[in-house]
Amino acid sequence: MPPTCSSAAANSYSTKEQIGTSVAAAKTSDNYLEIGDCRITTVRAGSYWWDGGAMFGVVPKTLWSRHQPSDELNRIEAGLNCFVVDDGRQRTLIETGGGIRHDGRALERMRMPHGVHAAEALANRGFEPDSIDLVINTHLHWDHCGGNTLDSGNGAVAAFPNARYVVQRGEITHAREQHPRDGVSYRAVNYEPLVEGGQLHLLDGDVEVAPGIQVQVTPGHNRDMMVVLVRSGGQTWCHLADLAPYAAHVTPTWVAAFDLFPMESIASKNELFGRAAAEEWWCSFGHDPKISFARIMSREGKFSLRDER
Ligand SMILES: [Zn+2]
Repeated sequence: MPPTCSSAAANSYSTKEQIGTSVAAAKTSDNYLEIGDCRITTVRAGSYWWDGGAMFGVVPKTLWSRHQPSDELNRIEAGLNCFVVDDGRQRTLIETGGGIRHDGRALERMRMPHGVHAAEALANRGFEPDSIDLVINTHLHWDHCGGNTLDSGNGAVAAFPNARYVVQRGEITHAREQHPRDGVSYRAVNYEPLVEGGQLHLLDGDVEVAPGIQVQVTPGHNRDMMVVLVRSGGQTWCHLADLAPYAAHVTPTWVAAFDLFPMESIASKNELFGRAAAEEWWCSFGHDPKISFARIMSREGKFSLRDER
């Protein structure tokens, strides 16, 4: 059955109760999570404001606005969520935010006073950029890899000079196609200098990119976006990226309007959320400006948040 307003509405009530009571309890951007030997720290490289209707697709505003308040231009806040995973031996950065290469019109449109570079946001939190060993870009939209590089006198260079960067091969192939639908989201300066410098490694499918850190291709938002799974001490954390940009997207039929394959988004969410609920994973979201970590539960065929930080 195709997603419809009525099915989205019916599914929303289970999430409403959970999120409605939990947002107030959610902590702010200095959250971290410890599982086994790993400490996972949320670092928000600022935020931008984007059309709420675009973020929630066919879901009517009467429903999504209960979770994300909009401003007078119908925009909602989107955190540029990055995560540092540190197991004491290796330091991994997941996503690099939106960077600082925005002109005045774009900044105004996105209600950004200025861009925030991930390297600066990390340094402010005590993570020196040269201490990052691995950078994972779940995909190459500007708001997930805009802090990959920095401008220098010699052009764009790696912002994390000692890191190996990874992304799916299919994703960079699609980025280079510059398709009319989503080409504007891909900016070569965020990744081509790293290809030329030999720092960006292309992945083919689901692989373990470091001990305990696995990526899984999860189609829906686009063909080759990946989620990131970290396992330690018998526990699992999953960064859902834009498979669930906000905690409110825990309802599988709540899919952003800009997903290229919405039916596959729903299938991917059902599959992944089922495992997340059964195995009690902690999960994180691509752009939720407040909720950093949450666990998903399944009851009577519906998913909702169990608890969050
Ligand atoms: Zn995004």
